[in-house]
Amino acid sequence: MLSVKRAKSIWIGIAAILASAACLLIAEPLIVSVVSELDGYVVAIDPGHGGRDSGSSHAGFTEKDITLLLSMAIADEIRARGGIAVLTRDTDTDLWDQVTYQDEIEYTKKEYEQDLELGRKIDPRDRGIALGTRFPPTYRLGLRARLLVAQQHNANILISIHTNHFRSESAKGAVTLYQSHSDLSRQLAAAIQHYLKDLLPGRAEPGISPDDFFILRRSPIPAVLIEIGFVSNKHDREFMLSESGRQAIAKAVADGIQDYFRLLKYPL
Ligand SMILES: [Zn+2]
Repeated sequence: MLSVKRAKSIWIGIAAILASAACLLIAEPLIVSVVSELDGYVVAIDPGHGGRDSGSSHAGFTEKDITLLLSMAIADEIRARGGIAVLTRDTDTDLWDQVTYQDEIEYTKKEYEQDLELGRKIDPRDRGIALGTRFPPTYRLGLRARLLVAQQHNANILISIHTNHFRSESAKGAVTLYQSHSDLSRQLAAAIQHYLKDLLPGRAEPGISPDDFFILRRSPIPAVLIEIGFVSNKHDREFMLSESGRQAIAKAVADGIQDYFRLLKYPL
């Protein structure tokens, strides 16, 4: 026969087990939905410029270094949420030697044919290269290499990271550019900019705009080019150079990416 005291302690023990089980039941779905939100998605992140191509610079800071720092922070955040982050470069390299001129001419010929078929706007540089009246510029080989990295990893989306520059210190804020031919790219840009504009507000809202920059024009998957902030503006520059600023930027970009995939899965 159990003493009253012992029976009481058993009941307390059972109650404690039930309480912790209830906690698990409540806590588990939260952990799953937050941590694994990007589970299975592959995000290619392209730190703009690199190597012989420094991008813009201001007060000793070069764009290529800042884009690499920002991209690594974004990659960490994507991975922390269960996604697969692929960086097109993780060192100071321009990737110019990853694609030959001859290969670039072949790629351009195919794309030029496709543009004609789809009735897309023809870029005069693409036409020149496809028809043999122009030679591909060297920097284009590096940009092509970045697209190939995304393709080799079966990325769902491509995010190219850049910083902005202007002669006047007053220009500031994030701008996200999207592929003019892709509505998915526009949606991705809007989703990311929704969060970024609160951190790095600019003059013109909403701060998204179509652009035919090579990496956008030629990416077969939805792609955006984010000009995170102006290196020529004190606030933007200091924010991007600080550890806490980069973490906030990474969170904003990942929140936008998460919203984009959620909307694709569960359209409104
Ligand atoms: Zn740039």
